[in-house]
Amino acid sequence: MQTAAVRIPGRIENILSWKEQGGGIAAVFPIHYPRELLRAFGYLPVEVWGPPVVESVSSAAHVQPYVCSIVRNGLSFLQSGGLELADILLVPHACDSLQGLGSLLLDFIHPRQPTLTLYLPRGRRESDLSFLAQELHALYRRLAEIHGDSPTEPELMSSIRREEAADASLAQLHRQRSRLPLSDLAFYQLIRSREYLPAERFSQLASEALDQAGPITERGIPLLLSGIVPEPMALLNLIPELGGWVAADDLASCGRRLYPAGTSQDPFLRMAERIIHAPPDPTRGSSIESRHQHLLSLAAESGARGVVFHDVKFCEPELFDLPDLRRQLAESGLPSLLLEVDLNDPLSHQLHTRLQAFLEMIV
Ligand code: SF4
Repeated sequence: MQTAAVRIPGRIENILSWKEQGGGIAAVFPIHYPRELLRAFGYLPVEVWGPPVVESVSSAAHVQPYVCSIVRNGLSFLQSGGLELADILLVPHACDSLQGLGSLLLDFIHPRQPTLTLYLPRGRRESDLSFLAQELHALYRRLAEIHGDSPTEPELMSSIRREEAADASLAQLHRQRSRLPLSDLAFYQLIRSREYLPAERFSQLASEALDQAGPITERGIPLLLSGIVPEPMALLNLIPELGGWVAADDLASCGRRLYPAGTSQDPFLRMAERIIHAPPDPTRGSSIESRHQHLLSLAAESGARGVVFHDVKFCEPELFDLPDLRRQLAESGLPSLLLEVDLNDPLSHQLHTRLQAFLEMIV
């Protein structure tokens, strides 16, 4: 894959190269999980956000039609052999649908690979931190059973620091996006390579891209993109075609995972700190007010004139917040638009027209 600035290895190329070096692959479902813990055991995390446009009939026997297409497609992809290169599966509890998927895999489907789950707390209290540290410790013990060996504390700390460096580069890319010679599509191809590249390779690509930073360039009407995942990626061509530009994001797959560095010298607490102190996210129980303030602050920093909520149909955590969140944003003078997509559908004419009308309104 080639952007204006850097060549990004594709998923399969990257997986095969990792396996050739003797490493394992962890297929990871959304959203939050400790990359550093998997890497310390030699597993490269490769995320499964759907993928888009999968024949999803096989999952219909197991999940209701009103379950989102991230879960439906992920399950179909697994059942059709799409995750055969994976050695383990990790299903974090982001929402009821993903919790249901974890239970289905463990209790009914029994895939070839061991399935691990991770329960995330829904708050930022001390008790949430300590609960998550214990969950991470339980995941460590389970990985040790599967792997037959376990990393030492210094090895864990070194793995954590490697991911912290990659996350610092990711945050830098987000901050510098208006200076990079990348289209919206190329920018998101680059930052989404964090979903499957080893941290050190991602840091290297980020650094090559950041070396190309120039003066700030005007690209169109600045928008703040919120929601789950920028799929179908054709959206990132449509926005500039209609005169817009993604100036900042609050996407679960991207901006909500700008994990800060931890401070604790205990590796489990440090991994927990990083997830707990990430930007507000409804799947981690963040209040609507904290999300409102976060979106206002992203809009102020980036100059975004409106928010586009680009959501996957039937996404309950997003839909619960939207009526109040959009009302509060409107009261604060930040207009918003809600677009809902199914990962299997192309962008509709209706979506095109609504986005065009929204851009004309905020110009
Ligand atoms: S899109 Fe929403 S409902 Fe579906 S897995 Fe993601 S958070 Fe859960």
